[in-house]
Amino acid sequence: MPYSRQQIINRVYAAGVVGAGGAGFPAYLKLQSKAEIVIANGAECEPLLYSDQYLVIQKPNQLINGLRAAMTASGAQKAYIALKAHYAEAVSAIAPCLERLPDIELHLLQDFYPAGDEHSLVYEVSGRLIPEGGIPPQVGVLVHNVTSLIQIGEALAGETVVDRAVTVMGEVKRPQVVSVPLGTSLADVVKAAGGVTVNQYALIKGGPMMGQLAQEDEVITKTSGGVIVLPQDHLLVSKYSLSPLKQLRRAQSACEGCRLCTDLCPRYLLGHQIEPHLMIRGMSYALDNMTAYFSSAFLCCQCGICDMLACPCHLSPRALYMAIKQEFAKLGAKNPHRLKPERPHPDRNGRKAALSRLTRVLGLSPYMAKPDLNTAPLAPLSVRIKMLQHIGAPACALLAVGERVKRGQLIAQPPEAKTGVPLHASITGRISAITADYIEING
Ligand code: SF4
Ligand code: SF4
Repeated sequence: MPYSRQQIINRVYAAGVVGAGGAGFPAYLKLQSKAEIVIANGAECEPLLYSDQYLVIQKPNQLINGLRAAMTASGAQKAYIALKAHYAEAVSAIAPCLERLPDIELHLLQDFYPAGDEHSLVYEVSGRLIPEGGIPPQVGVLVHNVTSLIQIGEALAGETVVDRAVTVMGEVKRPQVVSVPLGTSLADVVKAAGGVTVNQYALIKGGPMMGQLAQEDEVITKTSGGVIVLPQDHLLVSKYSLSPLKQLRRAQSACEGCRLCTDLCPRYLLGHQIEPHLMIRGMSYALDNMTAYFSSAFLCCQCGICDMLACPCHLSPRALYMAIKQEFAKLGAKNPHRLKPERPHPDRNGRKAALSRLTRVLGLSPYMAKPDLNTAPLAPLSVRIKMLQHIGAPACALLAVGERVKRGQLIAQPPEAKTGVPLHASITGRISAITADYIEING
């Protein structure tokens, strides 16, 4: 039965769906924007990640249902499912579903990073350039991650978000994609992949380009698509370990002003006024007009091309931009950049970062074999479900310690009149602890 716009929004809110590929923006809010085009983002452009691809292979009909709901809610007449051209199995799974749906098309992307960045993706698929610091609805487009759309499709069938498909890669015995109850520890996820194969190691939560070093007791949330295990002395681990202050000292002494960080920056190549080499020059020499150099931090999407691929001196304009952004946030400063580029840089196509090169440069070639799909969902003995897994306010517990809960049961919801989404029990069991940060359930 087709649902009305309001029914879709209500069900997606009640299921607790958030943007699975980014910072966790509540999906029910995004569904309220009007648009002409909806794009299902299946680019999954970071090396080593396969969670979205595998989910599309397993659940093509749920993806179509979710996409159809997003079109209804936004009033869009056209939708595209954007997948990399070489995701052959995902393309084969979805193509037959589209045969009688002329308003939904496949859009096949080249294999470059960051193809899934919203600004890049919208330009690749629709030819529209989002203004600096802007969002896709400003050009009549809505972008939803494919996992989120599948969850929207499942929400309409009465399900809630209690699992996350996670890719476990790197130094593990059995690299795999596995369905993991929210709140499962990274230690349990790694154990499911057969355990670690080296003595000294570090964990990265997320992808190798935009992830973060993590501890084993950290847990899977609605936005955790990957867990990467790397040797402690791996290049990526040392890059992620440097503090912003050390990054600044290194940049001040070692930057050779070659401007490769700017020339390869995906946002600069879309015509935005971001030139990281000038920001570093400003930091090093206290130039006039520093504000303009520093405020370009608002235009950085933290993709990591500058530090992981471009810079011959292994410096990190990205880390410095992040530190600047944090300082601006403390001051309550707003993004002054609003330029609407008329066209991208003429050399954009030739400067896209090929995944094969990125993988080689990052020292990830030994880990590139495709992971298995583990069809048996993980069954941890206990979970810690984070109160804040989304943009907005942390949820508040609705139950008390000692109460029994069933998988899928509502356990927390946002404070009155605050942005957020409800949370549900990811396993059946008894609540053993409630803190401001999490609800613990023992199975
Ligand atoms: S991380 Fe670097 S390459 Fe990416 S947008 Fe920011 S400055 Fe540009
Ligand atoms: S690429 Fe590295 S060395 Fe070259 S300008 Fe940028 S930060 Fe400096």
